[in-house]
Amino acid sequence: MTISPTTEAVVRVLLIEDNPADVDLIREALEDGARDPAFAGTSLRLEQVDRLSTALEHLSTGETDVVLLDLSLPDSQGIQTFLRLVRAAPRTPIVVLSGLDDEAMAIRAVREGAQDYLVKGQVDGKTLTRSIHYAVERKHAEAERARLASARAEAEASLRARDETLATISHDLRTPLTSIRGLAQLIKRRLTRGVGMSPEELTERLGRIEEQTALMARMIDDLLDVARIEAGRPLELRREECDLVALVQKSAADVQRTTARHQLHVFADTAPIVGSVDAARLERVVMNLLTNAVKYSPDGGDIELTVRPETVRPETGSGRWAVLEVRDAGIGIPAEDLPRIFERFYRASNVGDQLRGTGLGLAGARQIVEQHGGEISVSSEPGAGTTFAVRLPLDEGTGDGAATT
Ligand code: ADP
Repeated sequence: MTISPTTEAVVRVLLIEDNPADVDLIREALEDGARDPAFAGTSLRLEQVDRLSTALEHLSTGETDVVLLDLSLPDSQGIQTFLRLVRAAPRTPIVVLSGLDDEAMAIRAVREGAQDYLVKGQVDGKTLTRSIHYAVERKHAEAERARLASARAEAEASLRARDETLATISHDLRTPLTSIRGLAQLIKRRLTRGVGMSPEELTERLGRIEEQTALMARMIDDLLDVARIEAGRPLELRREECDLVALVQKSAADVQRTTARHQLHVFADTAPIVGSVDAARLERVVMNLLTNAVKYSPDGGDIELTVRPETVRPETGSGRWAVLEVRDAGIGIPAEDLPRIFERFYRASNVGDQLRGTGLGLAGARQIVEQHGGEISVSSEPGAGTTFAVRLPLDEGTGDGAATT
């Protein structure tokens, strides 16, 4: 039934009441209310059900703006009726209808979140209609306040994460910088004192300087990519023909030079796997995975890097693909963190204070792999180790999301 033919704004009311006499009373009261000029321009559309189970079904269709609820129904009694309803439809405002003898229960429902309660037999049309409109407005206002509070909390958390990241990045950039300065000062001291240095020694020191500058460059590039994505600009890949076997072998050799506690093993065919890829960015992906494998295996151990071609991918049915896997025997990643570790700034709960990091490497890696049309995945067992797998199309335009950001 629609109470009022002038329907600028329709409020859909679900009356949950099993007593036919009470249903008639409410109906009449609403008809009275509709005639009141105070509510001109709005209309109430009433649906009535007599059981909680039917009401729950009705609510699941999302076609109710407000509920009028009698707490004692054939299939549910007392405050439980209200609580079950709230659980099923937390966003729908509820006005409780009570008898004289269960007013205390209605007050409890208001404490639990009902917008209002009215005592049957004591409500006139105007009070009932006003209570319904008020309930809808108040619930909207509550939802808006909650939305603003959660947006504010999110913005604050992201600012905090950015501050922490900036602090970590400045610290992390300082580490290679300090070692570059130390090595340069050592060479200079030796030369100015005329002590000299053997060519082997000099080459070794200069090699370390080169490594440290490459590390700094990678960190800065990661940061620039992340900043570019945050600003909504897509990564522009600079594709070139590149042999992935050579790329992973070089990366593994670079990382092996930085650690004596770990043994890196490369498993690859001797035949080259040539693809049209952004070699510099892909090298960053491999280096990030390898340096993570080292960092998150503080006790050392074997790190395996596999690269192999995959001629036909079952899902896509065509194209040449390569699979690249990095496996370590380190601390692993707790199951609850796994779905989030590719998010920017996210770090798993088991990293502690000693293993520093920004939470940017994997986010950048995923971005680069997906921009190539490939995918990156992880499997891990805490305390046993972690494997990252990258699947990459070797020809431009083969991948799933080749052009998306
Ligand atoms: P971070 O600078 O923190 O290493 P990443 O984006 O590279 O940032 O990694 C995100 C998080 O994923 C890390 O903080 C760590 O919790 C987890 N993680 C990445 N690689 C590994 C790994 N090989 N073993 C265990 N945890 C890892």
